[in-house]
Amino acid sequence: MPNDNTTAKPRFSAPTVRFAPSPNGLLHVGHARSAMLNRSFANAHDGTFLLRIEDIDTTRARPEFEAAIMEDLAWLGIEWPSPVRRQSDHFEEYQAALSELRKLGLLYPAFLSRAEISTKVSEIESSGQLWPRDPDGAPHYPGNDRTLSESARNRRISDGDAHAWRLDMQSVLNGLDTQLSWDEFGSGPADETGQINADPEAWGDVILARRDVPASYHLSVTLDDAFQTVTDVIRGEDLFAATSIHRLLQHLLGLPAPRYHHHSLVLDQDGRKLSKSDGATSIASLRQQGATLEDILAMAGLAPPD
Ligand code: GLU
Repeated sequence: MPNDNTTAKPRFSAPTVRFAPSPNGLLHVGHARSAMLNRSFANAHDGTFLLRIEDIDTTRARPEFEAAIMEDLAWLGIEWPSPVRRQSDHFEEYQAALSELRKLGLLYPAFLSRAEISTKVSEIESSGQLWPRDPDGAPHYPGNDRTLSESARNRRISDGDAHAWRLDMQSVLNGLDTQLSWDEFGSGPADETGQINADPEAWGDVILARRDVPASYHLSVTLDDAFQTVTDVIRGEDLFAATSIHRLLQHLLGLPAPRYHHHSLVLDQDGRKLSKSDGATSIASLRQQGATLEDILAMAGLAPPD
């Protein structure tokens, strides 16, 4: 079985793992792989499997998707304790962490919209200059708002100018006196296991609170893993690079660092990762077409249940 991690020894006698879907679509076979790998690890070590609903993007989250996620997980034979943590109930906690980082002088309000960023980067690139992109392919922030004076920032904010809060990566890195790393277990991407050096710089001035949402994925996921005392994060290898940011935030906010296992993904026939927008691989539609648990597990690259 590729990339199974259940034989890896936990660091703690009763590990806590979590499966953390966003309720903006139906779960696909890749989610089944992730959820089952978490469940197997928890079961093998008398651990706890938590379900967390990552719904900070309240414009895209839908209660019917949350209900469908729970139905699919129950059909897979997975159980989880109640109450389930819903991120949209915890914006105040994310705000508290943001204000801690703001007080440390590590954040700045960034006023360029997505369209303005893209125009600016196109202009730079059309002059023949290369512009850095983050591991997800998004351009680094091209604005110079980090140099705005405190009073200019405050004026624009009180004028109601829309802004995101970005981490001032250079000043964060200048203040770091240690190479951050994380503990990767199981067979990770390209078989990288052991201590992996974090490379937060690759992300540039990452967004910690969006213009439209008072938090970001990176911030909420890092805080919730700590609040829920998650000991072992088991998730797809598409999030491997993001762990560098999560490790940095743990360091800045004084949070414990879980271990990580980034498992291989289920790919489609063209070798691309599955997407929620492609209904063909949703667990719900496969079930409707008569797929059995064994069928779904086989598609997810997992052995049949005992
Ligand atoms: N909510 C994320 C997703 O649905 C997963 C986050 C994580 O596992 O860290 O892709």
